[in-house]
Amino acid sequence: VPDRIREQSVLLNPTCVFPWCTRSARGCDSDHIQPYDAGGSTASDNIAPLCRSHHRLKTHGGWRYTRLDPGSFLWNSPHGYTYVRDATGTADVSRDRRPPPAHPPEPLAYGRP
Ligand SMILES: [Zn+2]
Repeated sequence: VPDRIREQSVLLNPTCVFPWCTRSARGCDSDHIQPYDAGGSTASDNIAPLCRSHHRLKTHGGWRYTRLDPGSFLWNSPHGYTYVRDATGTADVSRDRRPPPAHPPEPLAYGRP
């Protein structure tokens, strides 16, 4: 990852962007959010700082994340939990998920009364 892109990533994200992690981005790896092997580009919108242990967890532990906005990330754990991580901290948004309805909604009635 070129120094310029790494520096942008560190300035935008002062710490590792894993949920609740507070390690300084200066000592972090530059992670390809969408893996390089899977076609992820080495560009500002696809690079974020992850500390070494969280980088390993993402690479080998089944965690996935996407960038929502500059400095804002949506994480999915291997156990189905979902977290939003941004400059204000980490929010567990897993509980916001609702089970699907038992029955699909009634179809709209078309035609003339
Ligand atoms: Zn970390």
